[in-house]
Amino acid sequence: MTDPRRVAVLGAGLAGATAARRLAQAGLEVVVLDKGRGVGGRMAIRRVGEGVSFDHGAQFIHPRGQAFLDQIADWRSRGIVAPWGGHGRFVGTPSMTAPVRDLLAGLDVRTGTTVTSLTREAQGWRIVTGEGRVPELFSAVVIGFPSIQAKHLVEASGLELTGVDTAAYAPCWSLLLATDGPAPFAQTDRRGIGGAIATIVRDDTRPGRPPGTRLTVHAGPDWSRRHLEETKEVVAERLLGEAEACLGRPIVPTYAAAHRWRYALVETALGRDCLYDPGLRIGACGDWCLGPRIEAAFDSGSALAARVLADLG
Ligand SMILES: Cc1cc2nc3c(=O)[nH]c(=O)nc-3n(C[C@H](O)[C@H](O)[C@H](O)COP(=O)(O)OP(=O)(O)OC[C@H]3O[C@@H](n4cnc5c(N)ncnc54)[C@H](O)[C@@H]3O)c2cc1C
Repeated sequence: MTDPRRVAVLGAGLAGATAARRLAQAGLEVVVLDKGRGVGGRMAIRRVGEGVSFDHGAQFIHPRGQAFLDQIADWRSRGIVAPWGGHGRFVGTPSMTAPVRDLLAGLDVRTGTTVTSLTREAQGWRIVTGEGRVPELFSAVVIGFPSIQAKHLVEASGLELTGVDTAAYAPCWSLLLATDGPAPFAQTDRRGIGGAIATIVRDDTRPGRPPGTRLTVHAGPDWSRRHLEETKEVVAERLLGEAEACLGRPIVPTYAAAHRWRYALVETALGRDCLYDPGLRIGACGDWCLGPRIEAAFDSGSALAARVLADLG
């Protein structure tokens, strides 16, 4: 028999991590699987050398609902987030992955593990990864991938999860720039720039980061879509030109690299907090359920954990 208290959480972004923590807090045995080298998903850090790193995915947290405000207050009291840039905004410290790492602390987390299919056997869920079968069987499965990847997994497994194909994402090209020169502006970030560039953030203004001018430039969705299939080298050169034009000054980078986020920001959300099939005991959560924000991932992961807990008793 499957241990009815064992649940697989697929995806170690904020949605999966939130679900995993809630389930573990309720006494369930949780195994978290993620294909990435580390945890965090789009709350990401890129380390490119001694003292040079970029938060090149999500830029800041702007909590609004009471549940997430309470979570932020707890993280703030323990130094896991800190205010940044005013307007009620926070960032993870020492990087944007810190909140996810906190949620997953002490849990069985297996990174570098790409989930390729799921099978409902008589005894429970069997999970197959690029590295082979996961030895344990699970009584329930929580999928915390972006919806397109959740849909691929569900289809590859010959399953149906109604609604998983509803959401849509905009892509985002990011450009990471380090320079020996002075910062091109005094503020923490420039937003709503228009044209090719959506935002330019000074990574060195974030609390707990090393000094040295580092900029993360995010292209807008239209520009990102038009240039989606170009090489990283071509995009890096073009975005550098666009950033120089919008800042009105040349930038001489000591490091420049582009990163493509194919599924970056939710454009069309599901409109429900999560999906769950109580017959099969499988569900999906993520920002795509509620909107293009970290808080949506948190709310969705919490909601799905509540469904699983109610179902497993
Ligand atoms: C460039 C950019 C800027 C952003 N800026 C902000 C911002 O300033 N503020 C804000 O609130 N939000 C921002 N966001 C959005 C925010 O990052 C997301 O809403 C949130 O992080 C989504 O969390 P999630 O857990 O739903 O998904 P993800 O973080 O995408 O997590 C999904 C996880 O599933 C894993 N996975 C996928 N497929 C598989 C597989 N087959 N097997 C195993 N693992 C798999 C992935 O590796 C990943 O770790 C930004 C996003 C991007 C890309």
